[in-house]
Amino acid sequence: APSDDGGHIVMLPFMAHGHLIPFLALARRIQRRSRFTITIASTPVNVRRLRSTAMADPTLKAINFAELAFDPSAHGLPSNTENTENMPLTQMVDLCYASLSLRAPLESLVANITCREDGRPPVCIISDFFFGWAADVAKAFGTRNYTFTTCGAYGTSAYVSMWLHLPHRGMESGKFIVPAFPERCLFDKSHLVGMIREADGDDVWSRFLRPQFELTLNSSGWLCNTSEEFEPLGTAALRNLVKRPVWTIGPLLPDAIVRNDDSSDSSTSISEHRPGKPLGIAPERCVEFLDEHPPGSVVYVCFGSQNTITESNMKELAAGLEASERPFIWVMRPPLGFDMGGEMRDEWLPPGFEKRVTRVDEKKKKKKKRGLLVRDWAPQLEILRHSSTGAFLSHCGWNSTLESLSQGVPIIGWPMAAEQAYNAKMMAEEMGVCVELARGAAAEVSREEVRRAIEAAVGDAEGGKGKELRERAMEAREKIRRAVTEGEGSSVKAMDEFLRNLVTS
Ligand code: UDP
Repeated sequence: APSDDGGHIVMLPFMAHGHLIPFLALARRIQRRSRFTITIASTPVNVRRLRSTAMADPTLKAINFAELAFDPSAHGLPSNTENTENMPLTQMVDLCYASLSLRAPLESLVANITCREDGRPPVCIISDFFFGWAADVAKAFGTRNYTFTTCGAYGTSAYVSMWLHLPHRGMESGKFIVPAFPERCLFDKSHLVGMIREADGDDVWSRFLRPQFELTLNSSGWLCNTSEEFEPLGTAALRNLVKRPVWTIGPLLPDAIVRNDDSSDSSTSISEHRPGKPLGIAPERCVEFLDEHPPGSVVYVCFGSQNTITESNMKELAAGLEASERPFIWVMRPPLGFDMGGEMRDEWLPPGFEKRVTRVDEKKKKKKKRGLLVRDWAPQLEILRHSSTGAFLSHCGWNSTLESLSQGVPIIGWPMAAEQAYNAKMMAEEMGVCVELARGAAAEVSREEVRRAIEAAVGDAEGGKGKELRERAMEAREKIRRAVTEGEGSSVKAMDEFLRNLVTS
């Protein structure tokens, strides 16, 4: 590992679960390989949650946290609303604009560190790609700024490039080219899920995102939560787009799930599920359920920390899962239009669904339940690393994608927002590890489509894709493991190069 003289690195993640956790993992990785002091700065609620995770994990003990003053109510948000989890889109845009108010407290933090360290500013500020303004703060203090995207390279490049160019504007249908991508990677209007669909350059999201992304192009370089051999095309596109050094230092996954030996006890709990908040079910109950079913047979269904589907899709999904006759674990949240963190109601599911799928069939030899319904939040890592899990019906958030592929579990893709549809596209076209079920939270999905997608992923029918998908997913798993292998892995090398760059330039 490169040597250094122990300067200070300040990190600034966006306030969403899927961003905070990879930032924490990045801090751990840097700390293991250098003597830098690391301070992660965020709003008080998020800092409290991160601290509680760090306290339970010896490998995070030395990370510092700084609370940046933040008043959600000054920006039209309910008090304590400082994280996107279970947040409706209307509040999400408010949270984005509110995040701009973190600039002054970040400046005070950097000034304090500079003062404490005899006039020497932090070595750099590593900020989320939603916080392009951090490049200006760094400049003002005579230090450098690096942008860290917690998303993959393909997804980040497509997302940033589309917001900067809005290549689909004025287009009714058909395919279009996204700048930074080769012509063969044509995108389709149906890939525009979430707010970019309606974006015209002057909408609220464009007015927030476009300047931030433009500013990130002033940073000294980018770090990306991927590896080059895992995403060669995406990495090339990102380099093409940002025209800055790009270090692919990921996937930043907990050691327990990428360890090369598979000896780790599958019931060990992994601490980073959801800092400071309880799970919807004990991990042991999921493991027990999975233990009852054969290898590669269970379909795991979960849409991440901030997405849910419509009520009618919920009923179709339930009916499709039932019709598939495959065992499943489904993480349920109230449908669109309801409080996502609230209680589930029976009326949102087909009549008698829960009873039917969770009943133990006394007549059959093996008394096992077919479905496990989890309210709100599941121990996803434990589920994915269990050998009975055969496919992941996922919204294709990048963390979920990495967690699944690191275990060789293929994906049934149903992207909902952000860059998820580009992740699904990349997984289907470049990696061959994903069956696409639908695009967008409001797409109308039928039970038959659900059943067929499940069959294509876990079934063994003659001519079915299942076998090939699973082989490709195992190849992806190997690429991930190789990338993070000490001594030879490309991501380990990229991290050392980045750290060397900090010391020498
Ligand atoms: N997650 C979890 N249990 C759940 C839902 C999500 O542990 O019931 C974790 C999941 O393991 C992943 C993260 O939350 O690490 C979700 O991140 P992702 O990037 O997939 O999606 P996002 O929430 O950002 O949309």
